[in-house]
Amino acid sequence: MTTAIYPGSFDPVTRGHLDIIERASRVADRLIVSVLINSAKNPLFTVEERVQLLREETAYLPNVTVDSFDGLLVEHARKHGAHLIVRGLRAVTDFEYELQMSQTNRKIAPEVDTIFFTTSLEYAYLSSSTVKEVAGFGGDISAFVTPQVEKAVFAKIAAGRNKMR
Ligand code: ADP
Repeated sequence: MTTAIYPGSFDPVTRGHLDIIERASRVADRLIVSVLINSAKNPLFTVEERVQLLREETAYLPNVTVDSFDGLLVEHARKHGAHLIVRGLRAVTDFEYELQMSQTNRKIAPEVDTIFFTTSLEYAYLSSSTVKEVAGFGGDISAFVTPQVEKAVFAKIAAGRNKMR
């Protein structure tokens, strides 16, 4: 059985992430989407909220589960008996970092390999940061995230503004 881990910040999960999840779930028998704890200094959503949103968005995929992790990714992979790490490649700018990460991980854990999915063209310029930036200015993010995530993003932004008053 092939178990794969798809790690990331997912702050919040975008249509680009969901595209990778759906495609990776067809390749692996079991796919674990793992939210990285403490990756962003100023996250919009807590780790629990990000896990919850991902669970809702992936509920239709029976072989996908969602969890969170801290520390070394390869250790997390080993704990789950996963031999594959899934990553998405958007542009050349992703490449160097991803290459370095995958080489390092393979050095630490030779039994764990990384597979890359190239982005679907319509999501090539999409990142969680873009979503937050556009939403912060009240822009339309419906092309970037699902309706549930859109609602959650605007609710969070509004809650943050009320707190500052
Ligand atoms: P970001 O905050 O940039 O969206 P994440 O850490 O949440 O990044 O991303 C996790 C993984 O998903 C990374 O491998 C990243 O390259 C990939 N990814 C993010 N957005 C997209 C997208 N639009 N298309 C394909 N892959 C993506």
